[in-house]
Amino acid sequence: MKSRTKVVVIGGGIAGCSTLYHLTQEGWTDVVLVERNELTSGTTWHSAAQVTNFGANQTMVGLKTHSINLYKELANDPEYPINYHHGDGGIRLANTEAQMQGYRHFASMARGMDVHFEVIGAQECARRHPLISTENLIGGLWDPLDGDIDPAQLCQALARRARKAGAEVYRNTPVVGLTQHKDDTWTVHTEHGDIDCDIVVNACGYRVNEVGAMMGVHHPVAAMEHQYFLTEEIPAIKEAGHRMPLIRCPISDYYCRQEKNGLLVGFYEQDCKTWGMDGIDPNFVNALCPDDLDRVTDVLEGAFARMPALMEVGIHTVVNGPITYTIDGAPLVGPIPGKRNAFCIIGLRAGLGEGGGHGWLLAQQIVHGEACYDTWVLDPRRFTGHANVELTGLKAIEDYQNEFRFHFPHEHRPAGRPAKTTPLTPVLAAEGAEFAVVNGWERVDFIKPASDFDHALSFSFDEVFDVVASEVKAVQENVGLCEVNGFNRFEITGEDRHAFLNRMFCGTVTRRNGRVGLGYLLNHHGMVKGEATLANLPASDRGPDRVWYGSAAASEYHDMDWLSSHVHDDEDVNIRSLTNEQTILVLAGPNARDVLAACARGDWSNDAFPWLCVRECFVGIAPATVMRVSFSGELAYEIHVPNASLYAAYLALRKAGEAFGLRLFGARAVDSMRMEKGFLHWKADLLTEFNPFETGLDRFVKFEKNDFVGKDALVDRHAKGPNRKLVTLRVDCEHAPAHSGASLMENGRVVGTITSGDWGHRVGMNLAYAFVLPEFAKEGATMELDLCGDRVNVHVIAPSPYDPDFVRIRS
Ligand SMILES: Cc1cc2nc3c(=O)[nH]c(=O)nc-3n(C[C@H](O)[C@H](O)[C@H](O)COP(=O)(O)OP(=O)(O)OC[C@H]3O[C@@H](n4cnc5c(N)ncnc54)[C@H](O)[C@@H]3O)c2cc1C
Repeated sequence: MKSRTKVVVIGGGIAGCSTLYHLTQEGWTDVVLVERNELTSGTTWHSAAQVTNFGANQTMVGLKTHSINLYKELANDPEYPINYHHGDGGIRLANTEAQMQGYRHFASMARGMDVHFEVIGAQECARRHPLISTENLIGGLWDPLDGDIDPAQLCQALARRARKAGAEVYRNTPVVGLTQHKDDTWTVHTEHGDIDCDIVVNACGYRVNEVGAMMGVHHPVAAMEHQYFLTEEIPAIKEAGHRMPLIRCPISDYYCRQEKNGLLVGFYEQDCKTWGMDGIDPNFVNALCPDDLDRVTDVLEGAFARMPALMEVGIHTVVNGPITYTIDGAPLVGPIPGKRNAFCIIGLRAGLGEGGGHGWLLAQQIVHGEACYDTWVLDPRRFTGHANVELTGLKAIEDYQNEFRFHFPHEHRPAGRPAKTTPLTPVLAAEGAEFAVVNGWERVDFIKPASDFDHALSFSFDEVFDVVASEVKAVQENVGLCEVNGFNRFEITGEDRHAFLNRMFCGTVTRRNGRVGLGYLLNHHGMVKGEATLANLPASDRGPDRVWYGSAAASEYHDMDWLSSHVHDDEDVNIRSLTNEQTILVLAGPNARDVLAACARGDWSNDAFPWLCVRECFVGIAPATVMRVSFSGELAYEIHVPNASLYAAYLALRKAGEAFGLRLFGARAVDSMRMEKGFLHWKADLLTEFNPFETGLDRFVKFEKNDFVGKDALVDRHAKGPNRKLVTLRVDCEHAPAHSGASLMENGRVVGTITSGDWGHRVGMNLAYAFVLPEFAKEGATMELDLCGDRVNVHVIAPSPYDPDFVRIRS
């Protein structure tokens, strides 16, 4: 065994084998994999191993396409061919129009990744899969590339290729400890000796938290028991003369694929069970949980009704094994929060289909610092402090129970709520607030007009449309108050804070006390990494000279990792998170100044406190830090208040607002208004796949600055010209917004992808942002949007259609 290597991958299931192989593909060959038993002896060996191309976003579709292409290549390798049935096709069934609308959206989104799904009717489903009944069926989504693979052969093939490239694999070598050194390198302690390395990767499947504990972290991953059975031969399958397509059924929560001349049928029962929450028997190796078909009776009935042939055939094997889930159903692939040189590829619930792609994206991140797609949907840092073992267990159960039921826009499922609240949460609930979940925080989405107000889950505009319209009107014409909790905020102190920030941001960094500036952070490839406001606060009884760094609610761990890893040893810079200590109350609208002045001493006139200023004060008796910034495009104040004083500040503002008829508003109204102003959302419109020029942030880049992170790469990219450009669109459709990921077409060719869409109530327009090919980025250009299967025209318009001269914000 080597005593030193560059990367140690721990775990030899599909996740570890794929990572090892892809590291060698990226050019790192001094890498090893250590496995406590034999390869695939965790979950991988008994997987049903279906390989679909379906994903809820473009990153997932792209990585699955990579898996499929790689697996095809491996299957055809004459030296070591493996069994892979690709192209059997698969159908996701639907029994509601809303599901069909969702499938049409996913087909539109996948087309942008050159993946071609088909939405088909019930009769066509039955024609393609002769064993299913069309009872209570509307149709389904056809994935032509669906199939299944031999899991053990796949892992062996990947390990074999990695070995050929120089990697080493140590089997029967349990990792028993991890030590990180001062220089951020690691020693991996195994039962057979130590291996020093630069980087460790946790790919330990359901044992993820045993190895996590060795480095002092808990990963939000829980295992569920999951069962399938194999039937005896079914004559109709034998006679069909072709392989049966796969079925995934959200109506009865089961899946099914051909296995020899019978079927493999798997279940997602409501009466499901977590597994290993209190520790895992060290001898659970190549093992299964006891069969428990009684648990799946409810689902079985539905499966029998859909596929009557199942009632007439015997079962010859039952497989019940642990399968891992995370809080939102997507795996955790990327850097481990708060650790240096440590990565994970865990929480894979469809690891055979996805593993090829996840290993590919992880290897790119390890070697190049970033992958070809924006990987935020997989980033382990997307969950923060709330992601504990109990919450993970509850969300895993909920996700398992809804395995094939995709999330609708604005859908926030109930398990594990509320996780993060402020003192105002119950107060706002009593005011009729409907909440959405943002990184665990309960954030007001809108205020219900009546206690029994209800709305449909839909890809179209629904009953909430008019509610948002009236909240926007109140903000536009009068004054509104909105709680923005969980907003990420760091306090940055130290003599070198501005020099440090100047290096991190690609544009001008405001240094003047009392001033606020907006800026962008790039990665080392010159692509957009982050967005933050910087507010300069002078020394006071609340603290020393400091900068408040504010960014999106989910970015706390991500931004902290990025900033802290760039502080030089000799720099006087300290970064402290205030995210969980402070909450923002946004006061917005033409009467906002009068309301603030009525409850906070001081001169709030435009001359004394213009746009982009910051000041400490009291709102009523609550200590507050007020910034004159606006995401709505109206005169607005962000009032930052410590949580202990939040209710006091709220009461003061509500009282002062009484004379003006102040109304509460929520995030849905904010989203509509920001679209009208050309303001962008991190990880919706601000992605690592595009540089700031492509994103329309030219004015935030200052090449004349000495140096900043990503500058050299950006200079090169800028010289080459854009691949895509972000544009604002008017959508010729009244009944539905453009959804993120939807494709823009011209003569049947995909020419762009939507990033955000919403109705602009003040301008009376359906608006969207999209990245389009540069030749379509001109004002007036027209394209066709595939909006859930409908073809509608969209037109490029000037950014910021509402108050383009920013008069209202500055007034
Ligand atoms: C019944 C069932 C059906 C499934 N069907 C499908 C399907 O149809 N399609 C699909 O895509 N997915 C399916 N899955 C899920 C899929 O099998 C998993 O996502 C995948 O196998 C997970 O692979 P992994 O590498 O993450 O974990 P594992 O396969 O569990 O590998 C982890 C490895 O880490 C090793 N390890 C743990 N601790 C240590 C240590 N301390 N030192 C060294 N090594 C260690 C383990 O021994 C193990 O080999 C199914 C799962 C189940 C249970």
